[in-house]
Amino acid sequence: MKKADREKYHASYGRHNELSKEPNLLKGILVCRDCGRLMQLRRDNSGVKLDPPRMYYRYVCPTYQNLKEKGCTKKHLNKKEAELAVGEAVRLHIKLFLDSRKALDGLNRTEQAGRINDGYQKEISEACRRKKKAQQRAAALYNDYADGILNESDYLYAKQKYLDEAAAAEQRISELQEMQKKYNKGCTKGSRLETMAGQYMDFDVLTDEIVHAFIEKIYVHSDKSLEICFRFHDELEELIQTVGERKGEICRTETDM
Ligand SMILES: [Zn+2]
Repeated sequence: MKKADREKYHASYGRHNELSKEPNLLKGILVCRDCGRLMQLRRDNSGVKLDPPRMYYRYVCPTYQNLKEKGCTKKHLNKKEAELAVGEAVRLHIKLFLDSRKALDGLNRTEQAGRINDGYQKEISEACRRKKKAQQRAAALYNDYADGILNESDYLYAKQKYLDEAAAAEQRISELQEMQKKYNKGCTKGSRLETMAGQYMDFDVLTDEIVHAFIEKIYVHSDKSLEICFRFHDELEELIQTVGERKGEICRTETDM
């Protein structure tokens, strides 16, 4: 190998090394909106001639790279800019969740919320009492049957009726507990966003762990705009809706007075 070739080889070898080391934070989630393929990370040579040379990376649509306009619309994104935009979006998402939670905590401390919670508690206790009573009655029927007071078909019919009552009460208890949880926490199920928001609240540097924890897919439009699909977005929507409803509830009460 000639000296010049060797130097060229080593120069490009070094660059390839750097490319492979460059972390690809958006790997597997950055999708071209037009052709649906995953965007690929490529080195952009436009900075090589600068003094000192600078290394740029960009995400490109592989279909456009291969087939140009016949395959897809021209689409590329500067890697740093894309990561900054995604980092900012995740920060905003966390802030929106935490702010909404804080607003809900404030609403939970009002007298009105105390009354409503007492109401839920009372209804839950009543449903528990109904359930227990129905179960006791179902159990007591057997004695009547054994003593010959009830024949078999009447016994089975009445027993089923009480068991149905107990099941209905059980169902009501679950519904009330879910309603109470939504009222106080803004979500009906356990909150996965709460854990994640707490864990990554003040993150400095965006990592692929954070990206994949929060984001399911990012679509890249031909005008370079990003459409970010967050995981558990239904949880955040439910929380925001609850806060809106609860604020409305307080306004209504104040107008009523
Ligand atoms: Zn494409």
